[in-house]
Amino acid sequence: MKNSAISERKNQSISRGVGMTTQIYADRAENSEIWDVEGRRYIDFSSGIAVVNTGHRHPKVIEAVKAQLDRFTHTCHQVVPYESYVRLAERLNGLLPGKFDKKTIFVTTGAEAVENAIKIARNATGRPAVIAFSGGFHGRTFMGMALTGKVVPYKVGFGAMPADVFHAPFPVPLHGVSVADSLAALDRLFKADVDPARVAAIILEPVQGEGGFYEAPRDFMAALRKICDQHGMLLIADEVQTGFARTGKMFAMDHHEVAADITTMAKSLAGGFPLAAVTGRAELMDAPGPGGLGGTYGGSPIGVAAAHAVLDVIEEEKLCDRANALGARLKQRLQSFRDDVPEIVDIRGPGFMNAVEFNDVKKGLPSAEIANAVRLKALDKGLILLTCGVYGNVIRFLSPITIQDSVMNEALDILESSIREARA
Ligand code: PMP
Repeated sequence: MKNSAISERKNQSISRGVGMTTQIYADRAENSEIWDVEGRRYIDFSSGIAVVNTGHRHPKVIEAVKAQLDRFTHTCHQVVPYESYVRLAERLNGLLPGKFDKKTIFVTTGAEAVENAIKIARNATGRPAVIAFSGGFHGRTFMGMALTGKVVPYKVGFGAMPADVFHAPFPVPLHGVSVADSLAALDRLFKADVDPARVAAIILEPVQGEGGFYEAPRDFMAALRKICDQHGMLLIADEVQTGFARTGKMFAMDHHEVAADITTMAKSLAGGFPLAAVTGRAELMDAPGPGGLGGTYGGSPIGVAAAHAVLDVIEEEKLCDRANALGARLKQRLQSFRDDVPEIVDIRGPGFMNAVEFNDVKKGLPSAEIANAVRLKALDKGLILLTCGVYGNVIRFLSPITIQDSVMNEALDILESSIREARA
């Protein structure tokens, strides 16, 4: 089978609305490597967009899923429940930061987790409005779109968004927005657009993912917590991309002194199986009445089995420590040749949630062209990279945290030569 032939069929049969980063069709995958239908091997620095922190087909995850397949695959937790769902909720309640009683629900996708977090926040506070941030990404459902702080391609042409969603600028000093600027804008929002007494919640990603791998400064998060407490709003952390050891701690909010009231999780939670969760203060989570939350596939036994194995692997293989070590190596390597590549304007990120940002040197402006050229050079050499950022000028690194040292070395060599060649 040829990639190009499948690609032709894909163009005839699948909506172009499903954008695609590569045209290599997967045949099999193992840990940090993917082989395509033509037998070519790639190193995967995308992890299916931050989904396989524990690697493709981690033996423990596969074993747990196979064991579950042999018992039952679907009963719907709302009809005939199962203990593994309860136990996973208990585990997440224990793992999430915040010294208060917690409860959890399981759904299927990150967007669905976000939808439910907002439903719960509105129901618990009796307030309608939500504040999100420019550059933030929260999914492709209607509330997800409304909260997302980027118009093209996420909102354009999709009609009226849910009302009562407001945006403030996310602090990115590199792009001239300080913490003080963000907080001043929030204050202006309360004066000009929405009474803080009508606001149910502020939602943010502790490290913006699609928006460019920008970390929320600690004083910013502390200030948001204070504003929420002052006005009776809830703080929602969207940890869909940041969760499960990626940032060098179990959750990105573990880097902060304050806790969120509600947290959304998905992606790496189940190491490649569709599962998402919302965990929050018990009294908030209990606000909606029976039947108000849930869904047919929410907390699928397969996803739940995988998630138990993922949590075991993160602990047993000390993946938080491993993420810190790998991230340090990656950043060090980028720093080592930074002087030769003036287009590099920033190298950043906690743990192994790292990124490199490029500018056009002559114009002094963000350059999506350079980031894209690096991505394509790397792909050509067998390394799958993803771009991100409001300006598309950021390469983000999302390799499995279980990547073998030898494969990591190979990837770093490809990365360096791709960056050097892209600027030439
Ligand atoms: N929130 C964040 C922070 C995300 O990164 C994403 C996915 N990129 C989502 C929500 C939506 O998740 P899903 O694609 O599973 O709906």
